[in-house]
Amino acid sequence: MLDHCNAPGLISLEKAQALLQKHITPIKETVDRALAESLGFILADSVVSPVNVPSHDNASMDGYAVRLTELASEQALPVAGESFAGKPFTGTMPEGCCVRIMTGGCIPEGADTVIMQEYARKTPKGIQFTQWPDAAGASIRPMGDDIQCGACIFKQGHKIKAQDIGLLAAMGVSTVSVFRPLKVAVFSTGDELRQPGEALRYGEIYDSNRFAIKAMLSKMNSEVIDLGCIPDDPQRIREALAQANEQADVVITSGGVSVGESDYTRDALDEMGEVTFWKIAIKPGKPFTFGKLGDSVFFGLPGNPVSALVSFQQLAAPALRVMMNMTTPPVREIQATCQTPLKKHPGRKEFQRGICEITDTGQITVSTTGGQCSGILHSMGVADCYIVLPEDNGGVHVGDSVAVQLFDELLS
Ligand code: AMP
Ligand code: MG
Repeated sequence: MLDHCNAPGLISLEKAQALLQKHITPIKETVDRALAESLGFILADSVVSPVNVPSHDNASMDGYAVRLTELASEQALPVAGESFAGKPFTGTMPEGCCVRIMTGGCIPEGADTVIMQEYARKTPKGIQFTQWPDAAGASIRPMGDDIQCGACIFKQGHKIKAQDIGLLAAMGVSTVSVFRPLKVAVFSTGDELRQPGEALRYGEIYDSNRFAIKAMLSKMNSEVIDLGCIPDDPQRIREALAQANEQADVVITSGGVSVGESDYTRDALDEMGEVTFWKIAIKPGKPFTFGKLGDSVFFGLPGNPVSALVSFQQLAAPALRVMMNMTTPPVREIQATCQTPLKKHPGRKEFQRGICEITDTGQITVSTTGGQCSGILHSMGVADCYIVLPEDNGGVHVGDSVAVQLFDELLS
């Protein structure tokens, strides 16, 4: 099904993203995970709080619990007992008395206000207060102030962050139901590739794509099946694709999807499965290929390192998030004043690497990282954003307003 490929020109990024959504299916299987092991997983169910947090009215200050109306005079109040965190005062606070209370201590029955200890003086007859508020309720954290029992705190599709683990623990949740991780098989292709740690011979380079792709996949909590580095040999590539399809939900390759003599990956996919589309009107990342391989989906990333990262992040990652049932995070795009001239020819949407800053006067500015060739991988390392230049636009002058897409959690 190479109709898009045969169409004159390239398909737009937006069209490619829309097509991807049509061709992928979210996974259904769920697993239970211990709370401490759930970071980054996607909730399979909503979470409704089974408790109030806090579970009781309690003091937000160290001081004394009182009845506010009894503070109208200068009279000292005897201390009837103590209420410390985890060691509550039992019974009702006797009239005309106060209770020593510490932060987190339950408010004794009868008390309506906590006076901080800085406004309390010990006298032989009890505690004399030097200041008190006009209305009752001061320095009290009411039951359910943080989370109400029965409230829906997280919806299905929510990605569990570190602070959410704290919140779930605060609700007493010990296990969460999450979608199982996606199984993603990864391999790179290229006769020229060697592995870090090995010596390079003339004309060889290190296989950097597979490491970067695996790192981004582990940020997405995917289960990575690493099939290594495959030479530019059609038979070996077919074998790797067959193994990948057997073991994984998703197959991601790098290299071999261009139009060169040794670019065999797309042809192999065409024989064994279906090339749904390739060649996107973006720079870098044009040769990105999407297809079906048995019951797996296939993303063929270009070999050039920046192209591989940008096309993974712009095309593969959003599709993977849908497959993982993750609620789509908003793209953080803002306008910034460009501080450096940028070269561009009309025709493709460009994702130039930039460094975004906020000046002393609050102006948002962006500068290029320098060389924008798709082999300049260090540009991705120094950047914190893309400068997104629309398909039809030409270059940018200093002072022009440009769209800036801040790097998402995969790249930061
Ligand atoms: P290809 O898409 O296979 O034609 O490769 C395009 C360029 O990317 C070539 O210069 C390759 O040497 C380079 N390249 C391909 N795969 C990788 C990889 N895994 N890591 C780093 N560079 C690569
Ligand atoms: Mg190659």
